[in-house]
Amino acid sequence: MDAALAVLKEKFGYDSFRPGQDTAVSRVLHGENTLVIMPTGGGKSLCYQIPAMLLDGLTVVVSPLIALMKDQVDALNDNDIPATFINSTLDYQDADERLSMAARGEVKLLYVAPERLAMSGFQAELADLNVQVLAIDEAHCISQWGHDFRPSYLALQEVAKSLPSHPTVVALTATATERVADDVCQRLDIPAEGRINTGFARENLSFQVVRDQDKDKFLIDYLRLNPDQSGIVYAATRKEVDRLDALLTKKHLPVTKYHAGLSEEERSQNQEDFLFDRKPVMIATNAFGMGIDKSNVRFVIHDQVPADLESYYQEAGRAGRDGLPSEAILLFSQGDLHIRRFFIDQSEGDEDYKQREYQKLQVMNQYANTGECLQEYILQYFGQESAPCQRCSNCLDQREAVDVTTDAQKVLSCVVRMRERFGKGLVAQVLGGSANQRIRELHLQDLPTYGIMASMPQKRISEFIDFLVASEYLEALGGQYPILHVTASGAAVLRGEEKVMRKQAIQARAAVPVDDALFQKLRAVRRELAEEQGVPPFVIFSDKTLRAICTAQPQTL
Ligand code: ADP
Ligand code: MG
Ligand code: ZN
Repeated sequence: MDAALAVLKEKFGYDSFRPGQDTAVSRVLHGENTLVIMPTGGGKSLCYQIPAMLLDGLTVVVSPLIALMKDQVDALNDNDIPATFINSTLDYQDADERLSMAARGEVKLLYVAPERLAMSGFQAELADLNVQVLAIDEAHCISQWGHDFRPSYLALQEVAKSLPSHPTVVALTATATERVADDVCQRLDIPAEGRINTGFARENLSFQVVRDQDKDKFLIDYLRLNPDQSGIVYAATRKEVDRLDALLTKKHLPVTKYHAGLSEEERSQNQEDFLFDRKPVMIATNAFGMGIDKSNVRFVIHDQVPADLESYYQEAGRAGRDGLPSEAILLFSQGDLHIRRFFIDQSEGDEDYKQREYQKLQVMNQYANTGECLQEYILQYFGQESAPCQRCSNCLDQREAVDVTTDAQKVLSCVVRMRERFGKGLVAQVLGGSANQRIRELHLQDLPTYGIMASMPQKRISEFIDFLVASEYLEALGGQYPILHVTASGAAVLRGEEKVMRKQAIQARAAVPVDDALFQKLRAVRRELAEEQGVPPFVIFSDKTLRAICTAQPQTL
């Protein structure tokens, strides 16, 4: 393994392996079929790139992402690693020339699309090469139990077995349930001990579910509170992406967009704007992101509920690849669930298919409504035991539930003092100490509860009364102007027999307050440096570091 470590340092510039990488590399070097399950950003690529450098033969990498192959190969070439790709963007001659290069041993890695590998002509060409390793990225695509089954992947099991060079197979994925993992292993002849699973937990991600809020407002607030942070906002449809892009652009927020309906130029332009932080927020359909290696993505927000938890975890996992604290936020409304159901109803699939899709959606519904730890819920779904993360919105909710018994008693006693004859508006005004005509006419300013909540804004008092109604300490009876009544549990609170706990609503929040002028200056300096050196700005200094420098609280450094 010394040789592997040397390659890691010299070619890739890293000092040590991440969990699972060393085992994977060593297995592949020994010619043992292997399945690598690592979260997004875990470092799967090195598991075949390092063996490729050390072995004599050719490593063929199957990747479904034609659009990204060139970038991946360019990145390798930049590190002096001889690699090339063959896909449908090349003409016949060019592809042929690259195959000859591979035959002459001039490249170590050959990236191909699964569709290409499925062609018998191409398989015949490969048979003439010394293919020593077959690396299959996004390996869950081979399983119909996965969320992203691709028929072209099925050909891989034949290719793996029929190539005369008997290549070692290394399959890699970030999302595999037990069932999918079994399926992948069975199809690709990977033995039980050949599974490397580093677990799915992403310790730097905090999951949040935001229920039934005005989503547009949430997004605007969130982006304003987190200026210059990079993030992805996923929306369910192209139309929705267009709408959000227009809305947020109008609010002068630095967004760009990506979906399959845009021209190729537009897509690559926007993608580049995003990658280089010219427009750090990408609004996109799920067509965007697979294989995107942008390390400083601080948040991934889903504006609509995705179709299943695998997709959700994979998309959310694009936040925080640099290991710094990042947020994965699902904006949830029951209405979106109905829309998803409607799509399933209308789909072409047979009854079995529909049932499966309903079930997956049901899992999403449970995720959005569970009171348990969100990370734990996800990990359990993938068959991994874990403890509450203490970071997700449910864990924080529990920790941040505040004792509001005293305030509740103030409201309840005011309702009693007002003889349970008035509605929310007037009760709130009495508590807040308003001096309007109605209050004077009714002599309500003489009540002992008059003004006892004057320190709270009127609106908050009203919201608090809503909360007491929702929690059934108060009842609002009657049609247009309902009258407040104290319930039995409300009476118990007044007698001091019951406590009232309130969870903080999740609102868009900022990481840390920042001296914006200074931040902008530093960013400009950073951009200059970056352009000089021809690298993305975050390579020089992450926004996070810049913000830490600019905050009023030096202890966060
Ligand atoms: P995955 O395919 O699992 O999503 P990648 O292979 O794209 O992840 O790697 C994610 C990031 O982690 C890349 O920027 C990569 O350079 C980096 N990385 C991988 N292995 C290491 C390591 N041993 N030390 C430091 N960084 C690493
Ligand atoms: Mg990858
Ligand atoms: Zn949690």
